[in-house]
Amino acid sequence: MAAIELAALSKVYPGGVTALDAVDLTIADGEFFALLGPSGCGKTTLLRTIAGLEEATGGAVRIGGDDVTALPPGRRDVAMVFQDYALFPHMSVSDNIAYPLRIKKVAGAERRAKAAETAEALGLGGLLERRPGQLSGGQQQRVALARAMAYRPRAFLLDEPLSNLDARMRLEARTFLKRLQRELRVTCVFVTHDQAEALALADRIAVLDDGRVRQIGTPAEVFRRPANTFVASFIGSTPMNLLDGVVTGDGRIGVGGVPLPAGEHGLPDGERVTFAVRPEYLGYGTEPVAGALPGRVTVVENLGSAQLVTLDGDAGSVQVVVDEDVPVPLGTTGYAAPRPERVLLYRGD
Ligand code: ADP
Ligand code: MG
Repeated sequence: MAAIELAALSKVYPGGVTALDAVDLTIADGEFFALLGPSGCGKTTLLRTIAGLEEATGGAVRIGGDDVTALPPGRRDVAMVFQDYALFPHMSVSDNIAYPLRIKKVAGAERRAKAAETAEALGLGGLLERRPGQLSGGQQQRVALARAMAYRPRAFLLDEPLSNLDARMRLEARTFLKRLQRELRVTCVFVTHDQAEALALADRIAVLDDGRVRQIGTPAEVFRRPANTFVASFIGSTPMNLLDGVVTGDGRIGVGGVPLPAGEHGLPDGERVTFAVRPEYLGYGTEPVAGALPGRVTVVENLGSAQLVTLDGDAGSVQVVVDEDVPVPLGTTGYAAPRPERVLLYRGD
Protein backbone atom coordinates (compact mmCIF):
# COMPACT_ATOMS: atom_id res chain seq x y z
CA MET A 1 0.00 0.00 0.00
CA ALA A 2 1.21 3.46 -0.78
CA ALA A 3 0.39 7.09 -1.24
CA ILE A 4 0.23 8.49 -4.76
CA GLU A 5 1.44 11.99 -5.54
CA LEU A 6 0.93 13.80 -8.81
CA ALA A 7 2.91 16.99 -9.33
CA ALA A 8 1.95 19.29 -12.22
CA LEU A 9 1.12 16.18 -14.23
CA SER A 10 0.34 16.96 -17.86
CA LYS A 11 -0.56 14.93 -20.88
CA VAL A 12 -0.80 16.36 -24.37
CA TYR A 13 -1.68 13.68 -26.93
CA PRO A 14 0.01 13.71 -30.32
CA GLY A 15 -2.26 15.93 -32.37
CA GLY A 16 -2.47 18.50 -29.62
CA VAL A 17 -5.32 17.47 -27.27
CA THR A 18 -4.43 18.56 -23.72
CA ALA A 19 -6.00 15.76 -21.69
CA LEU A 20 -4.30 16.69 -18.39
CA ASP A 21 -3.30 20.23 -17.56
CA ALA A 22 -0.85 20.45 -14.64
CA VAL A 23 -2.75 18.22 -12.22
CA ASP A 24 -1.58 18.40 -8.58
CA LEU A 25 -3.02 15.70 -6.35
CA THR A 26 -1.97 13.74 -3.28
CA ILE A 27 -3.82 10.52 -2.53
CA ALA A 28 -3.12 9.18 0.96
CA ASP A 29 -2.04 5.65 1.77
CA GLY A 30 -5.16 3.52 2.21
CA GLU A 31 -7.48 6.17 0.86
CA PHE A 32 -10.48 5.48 -1.37
CA PHE A 33 -10.17 8.33 -3.83
CA ALA A 34 -12.59 9.13 -6.66
CA LEU A 35 -11.78 10.96 -9.89
CA LEU A 36 -15.09 12.41 -10.99
CA GLY A 37 -15.97 14.38 -14.09
CA PRO A 38 -17.89 14.39 -17.36
CA SER A 39 -16.96 12.21 -20.30
CA GLY A 40 -13.78 13.41 -22.01
CA CYS A 41 -12.45 15.38 -19.01
CA GLY A 42 -9.32 13.23 -18.74
CA LYS A 43 -10.16 10.61 -16.08
CA THR A 44 -8.97 7.57 -18.00
CA THR A 45 -5.86 9.42 -19.16
CA LEU A 46 -5.04 10.30 -15.56
CA LEU A 47 -5.42 6.69 -14.41
CA ARG A 48 -3.38 5.34 -17.34
CA THR A 49 -0.66 7.90 -16.67
CA ILE A 50 -0.45 6.77 -13.03
CA ALA A 51 -0.25 3.16 -14.22
CA GLY A 52 2.42 4.00 -16.78
CA LEU A 53 0.27 2.96 -19.74
CA GLU A 54 0.51 6.56 -21.00
CA GLU A 55 3.65 8.63 -20.84
CA ALA A 56 3.32 12.00 -19.09
CA THR A 57 4.35 14.98 -21.20
CA GLY A 58 5.10 17.01 -18.05
CA GLY A 59 5.26 16.69 -14.29
CA ALA A 60 5.83 13.68 -12.07
CA VAL A 61 4.13 10.62 -10.55
CA ARG A 62 5.33 9.34 -7.17
CA ILE A 63 4.10 6.12 -5.60
CA GLY A 64 5.05 5.40 -2.01
CA GLY A 65 7.56 8.25 -2.23
CA ASP A 66 9.35 6.78 -5.28
CA ASP A 67 9.44 8.77 -8.51
CA VAL A 68 7.99 6.31 -11.03
CA THR A 69 7.47 8.79 -13.87
CA ALA A 70 10.02 7.07 -16.09
CA LEU A 71 9.24 3.47 -15.02
CA PRO A 72 7.33 1.05 -17.27
CA PRO A 73 3.92 -0.22 -16.01
CA GLY A 74 5.31 -3.55 -14.83
CA ARG A 75 7.63 -1.84 -12.36
CA ARG A 76 5.11 0.50 -10.75
CA ASP A 77 3.44 -2.22 -8.72
CA VAL A 78 -0.11 -0.96 -9.19
CA ALA A 79 -3.07 -2.93 -10.54
CA MET A 80 -5.52 -1.50 -13.01
CA VAL A 81 -9.07 -2.81 -13.41
CA PHE A 82 -10.48 -1.78 -16.76
CA GLN A 83 -14.00 -0.72 -17.62
CA ASP A 84 -14.54 -3.86 -19.73
CA TYR A 85 -12.69 -6.09 -17.18
CA ALA A 86 -10.34 -7.38 -19.93
CA LEU A 87 -10.58 -11.02 -18.75
CA PHE A 88 -9.05 -13.80 -20.87
CA PRO A 89 -12.11 -15.58 -22.34
CA HIS A 90 -10.32 -18.92 -22.94
CA MET A 91 -9.00 -19.21 -19.36
CA SER A 92 -10.84 -20.44 -16.27
CA VAL A 93 -11.63 -18.05 -13.43
CA SER A 94 -8.80 -19.62 -11.45
CA ASP A 95 -6.27 -19.10 -14.26
CA ASN A 96 -7.48 -15.55 -14.87
CA ILE A 97 -6.97 -14.65 -11.20
CA ALA A 98 -3.58 -16.40 -11.09
CA TYR A 99 -2.33 -14.83 -14.33
CA PRO A 100 -0.38 -11.91 -12.81
CA LEU A 101 1.25 -14.38 -10.39
CA ARG A 102 2.32 -16.54 -13.34
CA ILE A 103 3.92 -13.46 -14.91
CA LYS A 104 5.71 -12.92 -11.61
CA LYS A 105 6.91 -16.54 -11.80
CA VAL A 106 5.17 -17.72 -8.65
CA ALA A 107 5.14 -21.56 -8.51
CA GLY A 108 2.01 -23.44 -9.68
CA ALA A 109 0.75 -24.78 -6.35
CA GLU A 110 1.17 -21.46 -4.57
CA ARG A 111 -0.49 -19.67 -7.48
CA ARG A 112 -3.55 -21.89 -7.32
CA ALA A 113 -3.76 -21.55 -3.54
CA LYS A 114 -3.57 -17.74 -3.76
CA ALA A 115 -6.17 -17.67 -6.53
CA ALA A 116 -8.51 -19.89 -4.52
CA GLU A 117 -8.06 -17.79 -1.38
CA THR A 118 -8.71 -14.52 -3.23
CA ALA A 119 -11.71 -16.00 -5.06
CA GLU A 120 -13.13 -17.14 -1.74
CA ALA A 121 -12.75 -13.64 -0.27
CA LEU A 122 -14.71 -12.21 -3.19
CA GLY A 123 -17.50 -14.80 -3.08
CA LEU A 124 -16.29 -16.61 -6.21
CA GLY A 125 -15.37 -19.85 -4.44
CA GLY A 126 -17.68 -22.13 -6.43
CA LEU A 127 -16.82 -20.65 -9.80
CA LEU A 128 -13.10 -21.35 -10.15
CA GLU A 129 -13.39 -23.72 -13.10
CA ARG A 130 -15.83 -21.61 -15.12
CA ARG A 131 -14.88 -19.38 -18.02
CA PRO A 132 -15.73 -15.64 -18.06
CA GLY A 133 -18.48 -16.24 -20.67
CA GLN A 134 -20.31 -18.42 -18.12
CA LEU A 135 -20.48 -15.65 -15.49
CA SER A 136 -22.83 -12.71 -14.90
CA GLY A 137 -21.52 -9.14 -15.32
CA GLY A 138 -21.18 -8.75 -11.56
CA GLN A 139 -19.23 -11.99 -11.24
CA GLN A 140 -16.91 -10.99 -14.09
CA GLN A 141 -16.27 -7.74 -12.33
CA ARG A 142 -15.32 -9.63 -9.16
CA VAL A 143 -12.95 -11.82 -11.14
CA ALA A 144 -11.28 -8.68 -12.51
CA LEU A 145 -10.95 -7.36 -8.96
CA ALA A 146 -9.64 -10.70 -7.71
CA ARG A 147 -7.03 -10.75 -10.46
CA ALA A 148 -5.91 -7.29 -9.42
CA MET A 149 -5.86 -8.26 -5.72
CA ALA A 150 -4.12 -11.60 -6.01
CA TYR A 151 -0.79 -9.99 -6.57
CA ARG A 152 -1.02 -7.55 -3.70
CA PRO A 153 -0.26 -4.31 -5.53
CA ARG A 154 0.59 -1.07 -3.76
CA ALA A 155 -2.53 0.55 -5.17
CA PHE A 156 -5.63 -0.26 -7.21
CA LEU A 157 -6.65 1.85 -10.16
CA LEU A 158 -10.27 1.25 -11.16
CA ASP A 159 -11.66 2.74 -14.36
CA GLU A 160 -15.47 2.95 -14.13
CA PRO A 161 -15.59 -0.62 -12.75
CA LEU A 162 -19.35 -0.55 -12.18
CA SER A 163 -20.50 1.08 -15.40
CA ASN A 164 -21.21 -2.18 -17.26
CA LEU A 165 -23.55 -3.48 -14.57
CA ASP A 166 -27.30 -2.98 -14.56
CA ALA A 167 -28.72 -0.51 -12.03
CA ARG A 168 -29.52 -3.04 -9.33
CA MET A 169 -26.23 -5.00 -9.58
CA ARG A 170 -24.44 -1.73 -9.57
CA LEU A 171 -25.73 -0.75 -6.14
CA GLU A 172 -24.83 -4.17 -4.74
CA ALA A 173 -21.37 -4.08 -6.29
CA ARG A 174 -20.88 -0.57 -4.92
CA THR A 175 -21.51 -1.69 -1.34
CA PHE A 176 -19.35 -4.75 -1.89
CA LEU A 177 -16.46 -2.64 -3.21
CA LYS A 178 -16.67 -0.25 -0.30
CA ARG A 179 -16.66 -3.09 2.24
CA LEU A 180 -13.70 -4.72 0.49
CA GLN A 181 -11.68 -1.52 0.43
CA ARG A 182 -12.40 -0.93 4.14
CA GLU A 183 -11.21 -4.41 5.01
CA LEU A 184 -8.06 -4.30 2.88
CA ARG A 185 -7.26 -0.66 3.59
CA VAL A 186 -5.59 -0.49 0.20
CA THR A 187 -5.09 2.74 -1.71
CA CYS A 188 -7.78 2.88 -4.37
CA VAL A 189 -8.20 5.39 -7.18
CA PHE A 190 -11.64 5.05 -8.63
CA VAL A 191 -12.78 6.75 -11.84
CA THR A 192 -16.43 7.54 -12.40
CA HIS A 193 -18.65 9.99 -14.26
CA ASP A 194 -21.43 9.23 -11.78
CA GLN A 195 -21.50 11.75 -8.97
CA ALA A 196 -23.76 9.57 -6.78
CA GLU A 197 -21.23 6.74 -7.00
CA ALA A 198 -18.36 9.06 -6.07
CA LEU A 199 -20.27 10.54 -3.12
CA ALA A 200 -21.28 7.10 -1.86
CA LEU A 201 -17.88 5.42 -2.12
CA ALA A 202 -15.05 7.86 -1.76
CA ASP A 203 -13.14 9.22 1.21
CA ARG A 204 -12.26 12.17 -1.01
CA ILE A 205 -13.16 13.26 -4.52
CA ALA A 206 -11.30 15.26 -7.16
CA VAL A 207 -13.73 16.88 -9.59
CA LEU A 208 -12.14 17.23 -13.03
CA ASP A 209 -13.15 19.35 -15.96
CA ASP A 210 -11.25 19.69 -19.20
CA GLY A 211 -8.04 18.19 -17.82
CA ARG A 212 -8.03 20.32 -14.69
CA VAL A 213 -8.88 19.72 -11.05
CA ARG A 214 -11.76 22.01 -10.13
CA GLN A 215 -12.10 20.91 -6.49
CA ILE A 216 -10.75 18.31 -4.09
CA GLY A 217 -12.67 17.47 -0.96
CA THR A 218 -14.67 14.97 1.04
CA PRO A 219 -18.10 14.05 -0.33
CA ALA A 220 -19.68 16.36 2.27
CA GLU A 221 -17.41 19.26 1.26
CA VAL A 222 -18.01 19.04 -2.49
CA PHE A 223 -21.75 18.61 -1.89
CA ARG A 224 -22.14 21.31 0.74
CA ARG A 225 -19.51 23.79 -0.41
CA PRO A 226 -18.88 23.42 -4.12
CA ALA A 227 -15.95 25.69 -5.02
CA ASN A 228 -17.44 26.98 -8.28
CA THR A 229 -20.56 26.72 -10.41
CA PHE A 230 -19.09 23.83 -12.40
CA VAL A 231 -18.82 21.64 -9.30
CA ALA A 232 -22.11 23.03 -7.97
CA SER A 233 -23.97 21.89 -11.05
CA PHE A 234 -22.08 18.60 -11.51
CA ILE A 235 -22.66 17.26 -7.99
CA GLY A 236 -26.12 16.38 -6.71
CA SER A 237 -28.88 14.04 -7.81
CA THR A 238 -31.17 16.92 -8.83
CA PRO A 239 -30.05 19.89 -10.96
CA MET A 240 -28.68 22.81 -8.94
CA ASN A 241 -30.66 26.03 -9.39
CA LEU A 242 -28.27 28.72 -10.67
CA LEU A 243 -30.01 32.09 -10.77
CA ASP A 244 -28.81 35.60 -11.63
CA GLY A 245 -28.84 37.82 -8.54
CA VAL A 246 -27.71 41.19 -7.32
CA VAL A 247 -26.82 42.21 -3.74
CA THR A 248 -29.44 44.62 -2.38
CA GLY A 249 -28.97 47.35 0.27
CA ASP A 250 -29.95 45.19 3.25
CA GLY A 251 -27.63 42.32 2.33
CA ARG A 252 -30.31 40.29 0.66
CA ILE A 253 -29.99 39.01 -2.89
CA GLY A 254 -32.46 40.25 -5.47
CA VAL A 255 -33.49 37.39 -7.76
CA GLY A 256 -36.14 38.07 -10.41
CA GLY A 257 -37.07 41.18 -8.44
CA VAL A 258 -37.60 39.29 -5.16
CA PRO A 259 -35.22 40.03 -2.23
CA LEU A 260 -34.02 36.71 -0.76
CA PRO A 261 -32.10 36.20 2.50
CA ALA A 262 -28.76 34.46 1.94
CA GLY A 263 -26.98 34.49 5.32
CA GLU A 264 -23.67 36.31 5.96
CA HIS A 265 -21.75 37.04 2.78
CA GLY A 266 -19.92 40.37 3.11
CA LEU A 267 -20.50 41.26 -0.55
CA PRO A 268 -20.98 44.92 -1.48
CA ASP A 269 -24.28 46.45 -2.45
CA GLY A 270 -24.90 46.12 -6.20
CA GLU A 271 -22.54 43.17 -6.75
CA ARG A 272 -23.77 40.72 -9.38
CA VAL A 273 -23.77 37.10 -8.20
CA THR A 274 -24.97 33.65 -9.12
CA PHE A 275 -27.46 32.54 -6.49
CA ALA A 276 -27.24 28.76 -6.16
CA VAL A 277 -29.54 26.49 -4.19
CA ARG A 278 -30.38 22.80 -4.53
CA PRO A 279 -33.98 21.80 -5.27
CA GLU A 280 -33.98 19.88 -1.96
CA TYR A 281 -33.35 23.09 -0.03
CA LEU A 282 -36.38 25.09 -1.13
CA GLY A 283 -39.66 25.05 0.70
CA TYR A 284 -42.78 24.85 -1.48
CA GLY A 285 -46.12 26.55 -0.91
CA THR A 286 -49.16 27.81 -2.76
CA GLU A 287 -49.49 31.13 -0.89
CA PRO A 288 -47.27 34.19 -1.51
CA VAL A 289 -44.76 34.71 1.33
CA ALA A 290 -41.71 36.98 1.78
CA GLY A 291 -38.48 35.41 0.53
CA ALA A 292 -40.21 33.06 -1.92
CA LEU A 293 -39.95 32.99 -5.72
CA PRO A 294 -43.28 32.75 -7.52
CA GLY A 295 -43.69 30.70 -10.68
CA ARG A 296 -46.10 28.73 -12.79
CA VAL A 297 -45.88 24.94 -12.46
CA THR A 298 -44.75 23.72 -15.90
CA VAL A 299 -43.25 20.27 -15.22
CA VAL A 300 -43.71 17.70 -12.43
CA GLU A 301 -41.28 14.76 -12.38
CA ASN A 302 -41.83 11.75 -10.13
CA LEU A 303 -38.68 10.91 -8.13
CA GLY A 304 -40.28 7.98 -6.31
CA SER A 305 -40.38 9.25 -2.75
CA ALA A 306 -40.72 12.89 -3.85
CA GLN A 307 -41.46 15.02 -6.91
CA LEU A 308 -39.30 17.52 -8.77
CA VAL A 309 -41.40 20.54 -9.66
CA THR A 310 -40.34 23.17 -12.22
CA LEU A 311 -41.64 26.70 -11.66
CA ASP A 312 -41.33 29.31 -14.42
CA GLY A 313 -41.27 32.90 -13.23
CA ASP A 314 -39.35 36.20 -13.45
CA ALA A 315 -36.22 34.52 -12.01
CA GLY A 316 -36.29 31.97 -14.87
CA SER A 317 -36.89 28.29 -14.17
CA VAL A 318 -36.61 27.17 -10.56
CA GLN A 319 -36.76 23.51 -9.55
CA VAL A 320 -37.95 22.41 -6.15
CA VAL A 321 -38.33 19.01 -4.49
CA VAL A 322 -41.81 18.57 -3.05
CA ASP A 323 -43.12 15.74 -0.83
CA GLU A 324 -44.71 12.87 -2.72
CA ASP A 325 -48.17 13.37 -1.20
CA VAL A 326 -48.53 17.12 -1.95
CA PRO A 327 -50.77 17.71 -5.00
CA VAL A 328 -49.04 20.01 -7.53
CA PRO A 329 -51.36 20.65 -10.49
CA LEU A 330 -49.78 21.86 -13.73
CA GLY A 331 -50.49 25.49 -14.61
CA THR A 332 -51.05 26.61 -11.00
CA THR A 333 -48.81 29.15 -9.25
CA GLY A 334 -46.39 27.94 -6.60
CA TYR A 335 -43.82 29.65 -4.34
CA ALA A 336 -40.31 28.39 -3.66
CA ALA A 337 -38.51 29.69 -0.58
CA PRO A 338 -34.74 28.95 -0.36
CA ARG A 339 -33.35 27.98 3.04
CA PRO A 340 -30.86 30.84 3.64
CA GLU A 341 -28.27 28.60 5.33
CA ARG A 342 -28.18 26.40 2.22
CA VAL A 343 -27.72 29.23 -0.30
CA LEU A 344 -24.39 29.46 -2.16
CA LEU A 345 -23.23 32.65 -3.83
CA TYR A 346 -20.69 32.76 -6.67
CA ARG A 347 -18.99 35.75 -8.21
CA GLY A 348 -17.59 35.94 -11.74
CA ASP A 349 -18.12 32.37 -12.94
P1 ADP B 1 -12.54 10.42 -19.79
O1 ADP B 1 -12.00 9.11 -19.34
O2 ADP B 1 -12.74 11.41 -18.69
O3 ADP B 1 -13.79 10.27 -20.61
P2 ADP B 1 -10.19 10.51 -21.52
O4 ADP B 1 -9.03 10.52 -20.62
O5 ADP B 1 -10.54 9.24 -22.19
O6 ADP B 1 -11.46 11.13 -20.76
O7 ADP B 1 -9.96 11.61 -22.66
C1 ADP B 1 -9.55 12.94 -22.38
C2 ADP B 1 -9.34 13.68 -23.69
O8 ADP B 1 -8.22 13.13 -24.38
C3 ADP B 1 -10.50 13.60 -24.66
O9 ADP B 1 -10.58 14.81 -25.34
C4 ADP B 1 -10.10 12.48 -25.59
O10 ADP B 1 -10.71 12.64 -26.84
C5 ADP B 1 -8.60 12.65 -25.66
N1 ADP B 1 -7.91 11.36 -25.88
C6 ADP B 1 -8.01 10.25 -25.13
N2 ADP B 1 -7.19 9.27 -25.59
C7 ADP B 1 -6.56 9.80 -26.67
C8 ADP B 1 -5.56 9.29 -27.59
N3 ADP B 1 -5.08 8.07 -27.45
N4 ADP B 1 -5.15 10.14 -28.58
C9 ADP B 1 -5.64 11.38 -28.68
N5 ADP B 1 -6.55 11.92 -27.85
C10 ADP B 1 -7.02 11.14 -26.85
MG1 MG C 1 -12.80 7.16 -19.47
